[in-house]
Amino acid sequence: MKVVEETPYRFRIEREGAMRVPGIVFASHGLLPDVHGDKALVQVANVATLPGIVRASFAMPDVHWGYGFPIGGVAATDVEAGGVVSPGGVGFDISCGVRLLVAPDLDRVGLMPRLQAVMDRLDHAIPRGMGQKGVWRLLDRASLRRVLEGGARYAVEQGHGVPRDLDRCEDRGVLAGADGAAVGDRALERGLGQVGSLGSGNHFLEVQVVDQVYDAGTAARMGGLRQGSVCVMIHCGSRGLGHQVCTDHVRQMDKAMGRYGIVVPDRQLACTPVRSPEGEAYLAAMTAAANYGRANRQLLTEAVRRVLTAEVGTSLDLVYDISHNLAKLEVHDVDGRRRSLCVHRKGATRSLPPHHPDLPGDLAEVGQPVLIPGTMGTASYVLAGVADNPAFCSTAHGAGRVQSRHQAARGTSGRALRSQLETQGILVRGVSWRGLAEEKPEAYKDIDAVADISQRAGLARKVARLVPLGVVKG
Ligand code: 5GP
Ligand code: MN
Ligand code: MN
Repeated sequence: MKVVEETPYRFRIEREGAMRVPGIVFASHGLLPDVHGDKALVQVANVATLPGIVRASFAMPDVHWGYGFPIGGVAATDVEAGGVVSPGGVGFDISCGVRLLVAPDLDRVGLMPRLQAVMDRLDHAIPRGMGQKGVWRLLDRASLRRVLEGGARYAVEQGHGVPRDLDRCEDRGVLAGADGAAVGDRALERGLGQVGSLGSGNHFLEVQVVDQVYDAGTAARMGGLRQGSVCVMIHCGSRGLGHQVCTDHVRQMDKAMGRYGIVVPDRQLACTPVRSPEGEAYLAAMTAAANYGRANRQLLTEAVRRVLTAEVGTSLDLVYDISHNLAKLEVHDVDGRRRSLCVHRKGATRSLPPHHPDLPGDLAEVGQPVLIPGTMGTASYVLAGVADNPAFCSTAHGAGRVQSRHQAARGTSGRALRSQLETQGILVRGVSWRGLAEEKPEAYKDIDAVADISQRAGLARKVARLVPLGVVKG
């Protein structure tokens, strides 16, 4: 594989063999995955072979190895030219994403005396861990169907939140085109009891404080973010339901692929044309799972609001809610032509520029808030979308792993890690010592570098840096 440095923030993997387009990796030398270690760059090249792919197979600064596609991968296929959709390009946790809430009238000084109590209450109020029951017990499959088709909007209609929340959700909380009937029986069964639950490991709910502001005007417009503002960040997805949807459709596509004459270098890239019964069935089920993920984050928001109201008497406003595992049908200019594309973002965040029609009016001037969590021991970032993003309006979704879970847990004691974080002033409420060790800050890349390179590469611009005060870990 030949990797060419185009700029200090952009590397090109030259087209060779079956690649239809080059690979483009936004990274510094320090962030670029090792060609011989992590197989992420090979995966970027593999994705470049998919039928209908346009422009390039992109990798964000947090790229690392994933199932078929790398995590931090972006690939767009031309729907009208036989372009494919691949469940591996979305990932198992469909519509996994992040939302950020801000307390309009509470700063660090006001929170500190109550922080222990807040964390204890959150520990109790936030369902998490494998298979845990959610805060919203749906009574039957008919209600679940309404969640799958209505997403966060349905949750708000049922009293779980306020209408303004929806203005600050990607797609206003619900993706059109969901078909609850396309979701298999096993997936429905897994989904019934889990709405309003965090899940395990990498998923978290963090109490944070704004530690640095890069653009005060934008930070204020996004939601009154100021130095010292108290925030809550929630990271979770579509739980067992999304996982099962992915499993079911990878299997179906793997069987069907041959009929369309599609050959892929890795079976984990199983795909069929977007315009095929299998492609359409996947997108309908994926959309339903995405709505489930959005309702999930909405329900957890309400659980946190109850805690903060009871303990410190403050409200929480939604800054934004974004998915980072999704395939979306979007129109973009490619080679001077408007084209209908299926944009896969897997471990990548959409990053819309100012004045994009999909933005709510009060964000038109500043662009879409981009939320990039780092680790429970370092920082997280808010960025804003910029014009002329080269990667179909996408950017990083996190710091990105440098160690697998297994490597991270080896020789690390969860108990010692918690003491270390508490010494740094970060309160930890976990459910599994092993799970905590897998998430140690050293297992991830340097989030400050990821945010910096995202900005330098023209993917987004920095707005604010947040640091953790307390983390509820799945
Ligand atoms: P993923 O969706 O790929 O599992 O995770 C997204 C990102 O979340 C990771 O790349 C990592 O940077 C970040 N992350 C994982 N755990 C935590 C945490 O406890 N706190 C914060 N702030 N970020 C985390
Ligand atoms: Mn995620
Ligand atoms: Mn997830």
